[in-house]
Order: sequence, then C-alpha cells, then structure tokens
Amino acid sequence: MKNYKLAGFIFFISLFTFAGTWGYVEFLKSSRTKMLNSKIKLQAESMQSSVADMISLKQNSTMAMALSMVNSKDLAQYIVNKNIPQNHYNDLVGKIRENTVYKNIWVQILDENLTCLYRSWNDKKNDSLYDLRKDLVTVTRTKKATFSISVGKYDLSIKAIAPVFLKERLVGVLEVVSHFNSISRQLSKNNISSVVLLKKEYKKQLIDPFTKMFVDDYYVANVDAPLEFRNYLQNHNPQNYFNNSYKEDQGYIIVSYPLNDSNADTIGYFIMFKKIVDISSMDLEYFMFKWTSLSGLVLLSILVIVTVILFFRNKKQKIYYKNIIDTATNIVIINNKKRILEVNNAFFKYFSQYKDLETFKKEHNCICDFFVDANGYLKKEVNGKYWVDHIVENQDKIHKAKINISGKEYYFRVNAVLVSSESKDYSIVLTDITKEENYQKELEYLTITDHLTGIYNRRYFQQKIEEEIKRAKRYGNALSVIMIDIDFFKKINDTHGHNVGDEVLVEYSKLIKSYLRDVDVFCRIGGEEFMIILPYATEEDAQIIAEKLRQEIETHKQILALTMSFGVTQYIKGESEEFLYKRVDSALYEAKESGRNRVVVR
Ligand code: GH3
Ligand code: MG
Ligand code: MG
Repeated sequence: MKNYKLAGFIFFISLFTFAGTWGYVEFLKSSRTKMLNSKIKLQAESMQSSVADMISLKQNSTMAMALSMVNSKDLAQYIVNKNIPQNHYNDLVGKIRENTVYKNIWVQILDENLTCLYRSWNDKKNDSLYDLRKDLVTVTRTKKATFSISVGKYDLSIKAIAPVFLKERLVGVLEVVSHFNSISRQLSKNNISSVVLLKKEYKKQLIDPFTKMFVDDYYVANVDAPLEFRNYLQNHNPQNYFNNSYKEDQGYIIVSYPLNDSNADTIGYFIMFKKIVDISSMDLEYFMFKWTSLSGLVLLSILVIVTVILFFRNKKQKIYYKNIIDTATNIVIINNKKRILEVNNAFFKYFSQYKDLETFKKEHNCICDFFVDANGYLKKEVNGKYWVDHIVENQDKIHKAKINISGKEYYFRVNAVLVSSESKDYSIVLTDITKEENYQKELEYLTITDHLTGIYNRRYFQQKIEEEIKRAKRYGNALSVIMIDIDFFKKINDTHGHNVGDEVLVEYSKLIKSYLRDVDVFCRIGGEEFMIILPYATEEDAQIIAEKLRQEIETHKQILALTMSFGVTQYIKGESEEFLYKRVDSALYEAKESGRNRVVVR
C-alpha cells in the first residue's frame, strides 16, 4: 500500500517536473521567438521613423533656405525681368555646400506660369513644368510655402517650395531640391543599406535621370544603392516590397517606407536592408534566462539611447539651421510660441547694442517689442491674433513692420512659416525695405502736394472727392465743398510781378489752412483757384466757414490787400462728382458776376 502511494507520488512528481520543465522550456522558447520578433518589429519601426525624421529634418532646413532666398529683395525683380544672374545663385549654392552638410542642394526658380528661369545644376531653362509638377501648381494656387517629395525631369527628390511676391502679386516660385543620398549615407553608418525606388509609372517623366540606375522599370534615386540589394530586388519583384511594412529573408530584415507626394499619393519607396545578426547581437541566450529582471533594464537603456540620439540629432539640426540662416543677409529668427530660439548674424547688424542672443533675451522675449504702432504695419496682435500666427495664416498677403531700434526707424517685410509642426517652431524672415518705404513715402508726398504752397494738389483733390462721395453715399453723412478764386489776381501779377503773386499764394494758403479742421481737405486745383472738401458739413456749415474765410482774407492785408470769391454747395446723394463740380463752379461764377468778394451757395 505504502509502495503504491510512493510510486504514485513519484509518478506525479515526475509528471509534474516533466510537464513543468517542458512547459518552462516551451515558455522560454516562445518568449525567445516572441522577443526576437518584437525586437525585429521594434527595429523595423525605428528604421522607418529614422527615415521619416531624416526626411523631415531635410525638409525643414531646406525650407529655411528657400525662405531666406525668396525674401531677398532682388529675386522678385529678377523673375519679372526673366533674367536670373546665374553666378549669384551659383555662389549661394556653393556657399551652402561649403558651410553645411548639404553637398548636393539644387535651386530652381520659375515664373508664375511655372516656366523654368534658372536651374543651379544645369543650363537648361525656358521649359514648362506646369503639366509635370502638381506640387508647384499647388503653390502658385495657394500662394503658400510647402514641402513635397516629387518627381520631375531629373530625379525623385525632396523639395521645399516657396512663393515669390512682388508687391502683393505672385511672380514666381523658388524651390530648394535635396536628394535621398545624404539620408542613405547616414543610414549606412548604422549598417543599414538602402535602395530608393520610384514607381514605374513615373519613369516616363524622367528626361535625364540623375543616377542613371534602374531596377527593371523602377528608377533608383540614391546613388549609393548597393548592387547586392539592387540585384536582390531585381530577383524578388520590387512590387512585393511596396508597402509600409517589413519582412525577414536570407538573414536580413527588409523594411519599406512609402514616399508620398503632396497629394498623399505614394510615388516611391525607401527600402532598407539590415542583417538580423546585427539586431540580435546582444546575448540572447543569457538574456532569455534573465529576461524578466533584465527587460526593464533593456527598455531603460533603449530609452537612454533614444534620448541620447534625439539630443544629438537636435544639436546637429541646430547647427544646420545656424549655418544656413547665417548665409542670409536678411534677419532670420527661429521662434517658438514663447521665445526666440535662434537668430542669425544679420540680426546683430541691426540690434548691435546686444552682444549675443542671451543678452537680448534678458530684456526682450520678442522682436515685436520694437514694433512701432503705425497704420498698415504689424502690431503685437493683428485682428485678435498673435502677429506670427496672423502671418502664418495669411501667407498670400504682404506683411510689413516698422521697427525702432535705438531711435532709428527701419521698415521690414516680414514672413513667417511654421518649420516644425510638432514643436511649433517658426522661422521668421525680416527683409530691410527702409530705403524703398522712405522713397515710396517721398514719392507719395510729391505726387499729392502742390510744390508752391505745400497744400494738396489737384490730383489729390480728385482722389479724395471720389473717396468722400463714396463714403457719403454709403453712410449718408453730409459732404460740402467750397471753391475759391482770388479776385483780380492778374492785376496783382501785372502791378507787383509774378514773384509777389507767388508769395501771395503761399501767404493766403497758410491763412486759409489755419481756419480749417483736420478732416477738411484743402487743395490748390489751378493757378489761383482752390477747393476745400468738408466732410460731415452741411451747406449751412460750409457757408459759415466760407463767410468767415472771406472776412479774414479781406482784413488780413499781408503782402497786399486782396479779396476772394467763394462758391459753396452740398453734395446731393446720387449725383456724380462732375455734377457736383459743375454746381460749385457755377456758384463761384455767380459770386464773380455779382461783384466778387462774396459767398454764393448753390
Ligand atoms: P477774376 O477776379 O475774374 O478771377 O480775375 P483774375 O485776374 O484772377 O482772372 P484770371 O483767372 O483770368 O487770372 C488768373 C491769373 O493767375 C492768370 C495767371 O497769370 C495767374 N497765375 C496762375 N498761376 C499762377 C502762379 O502760380 N503764380 C502767379 N504769380 N500767378 C499765377
Ligand atoms: Mg481770379
Ligand atoms: Mg481763375
């Protein structure tokens, strides 16, 4: 009996031990496979996200380049003149090659119809890209800067495209083209080989394919694509790898990453190869027995590695930006919502009182602290929006800022674009237009001013009366005009000379002006004829003012005594400007006919 029990006990223990061991081994085996699988999956995902990050990094920095270039004052004019100085941009591209990691940046400039005016990589121009490049068409339509991956006549490449404006008009686009080579070079440093393939339906677009390499009908867009893997794809039908996934084959993990154009259509694939031994090089067996305790540690170390990689990548990205933005002669500021992250050298040409960004940031968070409040120029808030958001959302408009730096006034054209949507970083470019603005203002002043008396001229009268009539029509406010003519002015000229006549015009203009309100518009419309536009004044108000002026003039007697005749009338809703003019002119005529030195209301 005892023996049976013992035998049963031993049997059960053995069974239990066997089952336990078997289960445990199975468990370890399956966790090993699971772990290997999950490691491979993790690796595939990290390879995909590395490519995505590198593409986005490239797009952001080439966008900063494109924006600096389109903000150059001369570019728009070059485009309008259809004459881009070849050397100018060749030098710039050379400088980028010298100072940044971008060894193969291409610049292309097109007019608003997408006819090519300049290519930095060859001398071909005057061909149209309108039917070929949807992304360019989109930019001319939306007037917004954009990133894209697209295929043109030469290559499948990464593009940063920015519109070029002259005044408020779109005149062309500039694109900075970069290639997949630097990305595949970077990956190969991590033992990842890559083949960038273009879908075969786009092959016909390539007139002069840059790499001259193909896998069947699929163009290879990276020059360093290894022959071994091009052959592998040749033998395994590339179509099998056209997905957003990964496979294991012949000891390799093969990871695909789709390349989408601006319409989210996939036009090609970034296909990566990595040896699986590379992945499982950590001691898996040892790992297996300790996996419970170690997995936490491994996760932690992955986290640390990722953090370190991200830290260095950001640092690198910063250096890219700095080099690129320093080549610009415009002020470039990289900003996030709250603070300035980076500025270029040109910034300190203007803000020379600050020796570096840190000293600037001690006193200011934002360049908008220097904005001067003036009509037509940016303020800290525009239509209830932070000024940068306002610019980002209104890319098709021209934005200008009036800026006071240590008592000196500057005018800038300002553009801002979101360069990283995750971190909400903006690139703000300020182009100095002080000379142009001052010239413009001088010109405006000259075109509307009477050079003898300094009051407004006939042209301004014409412009202003049209405006005021429109306003009176819309809001129904009163509007009156007074027309004035000096009595016997010919005689003054004849007896005292033309110079005295001139002095009289200046003296009496000053006198009249001193009795008018700020809203009144006083113009010299002819030799010794004047017009006053009186918004919000009725006929009665205007008559009182005219009578007051008549008396003041009569008693003024400076230089010499003289009188003037006055015609007064109020605008009748609906009548034309010509008709108003006729009526006031005939009132003046009547004042002359009935003896001069008087006011006649019509
Ligand atoms: P009336 O009372 O009918 O207006 O007589 P008037 O002599 O003022 O008439 P009219 O309009 O014929 O003469 C205007 C004169 O003004 C003729 C012209 O020599 C003179 N005049 C026009 N422009 C100028 C100017 O810029 N300077 C001077 N000094 N005289 C000017
Ligand atoms: Mg006269
Ligand atoms: Mg006259």
